[in-house]
Amino acid sequence: MLAAISAATLTGAVGRPVSVEVHVSSGLPGFTIVGLPDAAVRESRDRVRAALLSSGLPWPLRRVTVNLAPSGVRKGGAGLDLAIAVGVLVATGEIPAPAVNGLAFCGELGLNGSVRHVPGMIALADATAPLGLVVPLCDMREASLVRGDEAHGVATLSDLAAVLRAQAPWPAAPLRSDDRETPASPRLDLADVRGQTVGRHALEVAAAGRHHLLMVGPPGSGKTMLAERLPGLLPPLTPAESLTVTRVHSAAGCALPEGVLVTDPPFRAPHHRASIVALVGGGSWSLRPGEISLASHGILFLDEMGEFPVAALEALRQPLEEGVIRISRAGGTVTFPACFLLVGAMNPCPCGEGVYPGLCQCSVVARARYARRLSAPLLDRFDLVVPLARPDPDELLNPEPGPSTAEGAARVAVARERAAARSPGDAAPFRPAASRLIADRLRVGQLSARGVHKVSRVARTVADLLGSDAVTEEHVSDALSLRKARELVVAQ
Ligand SMILES: [Zn+2]
Repeated sequence: MLAAISAATLTGAVGRPVSVEVHVSSGLPGFTIVGLPDAAVRESRDRVRAALLSSGLPWPLRRVTVNLAPSGVRKGGAGLDLAIAVGVLVATGEIPAPAVNGLAFCGELGLNGSVRHVPGMIALADATAPLGLVVPLCDMREASLVRGDEAHGVATLSDLAAVLRAQAPWPAAPLRSDDRETPASPRLDLADVRGQTVGRHALEVAAAGRHHLLMVGPPGSGKTMLAERLPGLLPPLTPAESLTVTRVHSAAGCALPEGVLVTDPPFRAPHHRASIVALVGGGSWSLRPGEISLASHGILFLDEMGEFPVAALEALRQPLEEGVIRISRAGGTVTFPACFLLVGAMNPCPCGEGVYPGLCQCSVVARARYARRLSAPLLDRFDLVVPLARPDPDELLNPEPGPSTAEGAARVAVARERAAARSPGDAAPFRPAASRLIADRLRVGQLSARGVHKVSRVARTVADLLGSDAVTEEHVSDALSLRKARELVVAQ
């Protein structure tokens, strides 16, 4: 009266194999689950019993004990429901034990016997290899991505019982994975943006050289509109990046695109009231990836950056440096990718008019307090600190579309090729006038040593965008103008 069923549980973005041992014995009827289950797993008892009964399958009026092994690993979520139900059916002889040999089961049960979506199916599918894997029909394409024909989908517990009793074949794969699918969002195009020559140029420089970008401008200067169009300038994800991004989005339970694999660079724009856990990841047991990981190989856009709590902004510094985030909790330590291009937007001052000389009504004290919200080390992460003004009415009313995203993306692709073709020791030479301009700014204290490094990097990207083999004075002065807004947001 003992059954052992293979399953898996999710920790962070990694699946861990779990053996679900079900023991049915005589004695007072009862149902106990042991082996570090979380609250959702403990509630499995009610879901499993209801699902079996509503599927026309018997519930044993005996003592049922479920042990989740290994007992040292915490088990989170409802994805063990299906394995527990199958274990009960095998232990009571409703399903022949040989039928489950070589199979693992991952799925949540509805009270009506439906088999429901669980997050992180890609990681769970990895963890159960080389066993065949039975998953919710809606998750089958996700599981098939890594397990191919070894993944089987079922929509209900009674469908599964019929297959395991050799009364029916495995259901066919669905054409669409499920109703979690988001309709393909229309690609936002830079052709919709009127004017904004400086902003457009800054986007191309950011995309070409992977420079973090802070846009400083009053409300209505189009900061959000520009940021949303930056992913379109980035090259499509490489196959390896695509798989990394898809795994993280799967582990977070995000809707995946029609073809399962995420192929476009992600764009994430968390609100400034989002919790630190939502931003960087974590949580008590299941250790979910946060926005910075969901933005990997894409854009993390922080609108109204000055409104984010200081602690949230400071939490970005380590991942910005390392490209990964490590989260330690009692449940263990997990590492998520966090390799994103950071785009911030903020007002220059509380009244927002600080980019226009003479218009700002803020006191010196108020401006200084506002500027202090971004710490110097965080501000230093931005190679580009660009002042934006509202487009003038003529530009706004111009019916002609602006230059398109496709044109910009082509320039970015060429610039990236130029940079990639250079060996590290073979950087584009700086013309004497270009070096002189940087040295002058350093001498008068307008640039720090770190600033020199950043301006040089940006100037090189500008040269790459213009197809120039050498970095000229014009490229350097362009790079200097692309950080001009620093003086507006640096605490004096
Ligand atoms: Zn102001």
